Amino acid sequence: MNPSPSPALTLRLSVTDRCDLRCRYCMPAAGVAPVSREELLSFEEIVEVVRAIQQAASPVAVRFTGGEPLLRKGLAQLVAMLSAEGVCDLALTTNGQLLADAAAELKSAGLRRVNLSLDTLDPKRFVQISRSGDLSKTLAGIEAALECRLTPVKLNAVLMQGVNDDESVGLARFALERGCQLRFIELMAIGEALVGHADRFVPTAEVRARLETAFRFEPRLSDARGPATVFPVQCRLSGRRGTLGFISPRTHPFCEGCRRLRLTSRGELRSCLMHEQGRDLRALLRNGGGEAALVTAVQEALSAKAVSGTPPPLNRSLMAEIGG
Ligand code: SAM
Ligand code: SF4
Repeated sequence: MNPSPSPALTLRLSVTDRCDLRCRYCMPAAGVAPVSREELLSFEEIVEVVRAIQQAASPVAVRFTGGEPLLRKGLAQLVAMLSAEGVCDLALTTNGQLLADAAAELKSAGLRRVNLSLDTLDPKRFVQISRSGDLSKTLAGIEAALECRLTPVKLNAVLMQGVNDDESVGLARFALERGCQLRFIELMAIGEALVGHADRFVPTAEVRARLETAFRFEPRLSDARGPATVFPVQCRLSGRRGTLGFISPRTHPFCEGCRRLRLTSRGELRSCLMHEQGRDLRALLRNGGGEAALVTAVQEALSAKAVSGTPPPLNRSLMAEIGG
């Protein structure tokens, strides 16, 4: 019998640190320091890095993230360039504010699916959490993603004690009604969220206990890929079926089997979300290091991945620099 093929390595590709929102758990009120065009990896340089990763660990999937990836000019062009490189899956994580106008072009360029961040269904809370923004735009982005079949559309919610922890059931019903999978992400002690983390943190077990009052849970899906633990559920009120996921970096760390690498917008390759530094691939690219040196750097990043399965330590980097 042939051994089962190894799961794809996912490159979380941050295309900008900038964001049009200022979520309190992610971004300082003042935003991030401006980065010049020269400092950013160009689309051609990104393609070179992706080729090196494909040589070190095929197949490779790419998820565009940031900051807010839709703020990077010409993103659809980059999607098309990576699609032409045979990347096996192209996905996007976005706050959705600009997605309604961009979804169709991204789909034609080769984007397959979208994850949208949605922490609340209350317009006022949306502004409190993101310090700006407009809930109706994110909701329009969700509808556009569904219409353009950027599916499965997944929704990400970070619940915080005393802020939006009373919304788990409402958010889950909203997701099920639209055929979306909602994933609850535990608040991570990273960057902006380090302050007041203990007071705001809501463990997955607490979220699940509240959800069980409104949904019947079946045994977890064993074939779910990625960091989420996913369960088929049925709404006790409407009878509607769907799936809900939990990403629990603190209470159920998922380091073991992790197949993700991260590339910052300035070209640092990081083995882990919790690593504060990575390998400077931009210097390699711009100093004529050549393809072999890039491939070696990728192999080293893969060997440096954590396998301990212990809760991650504190990280002072901003989430928007590493791409969440
Ligand atoms: N701007 C896009 C968005 O919000 O979807 C992409 C980048 S954002 C950094 C990626 C994901 O990281 C979002 O789902 C966001 O909720 C999550 N995130 C940011 N800071 C976090 C924290 N401290 N703990 C848990 N998740 C966090
Ligand atoms: Fe921006 Fe996403 Fe961070 Fe919110 S979570 S500030 S939308 S990068």
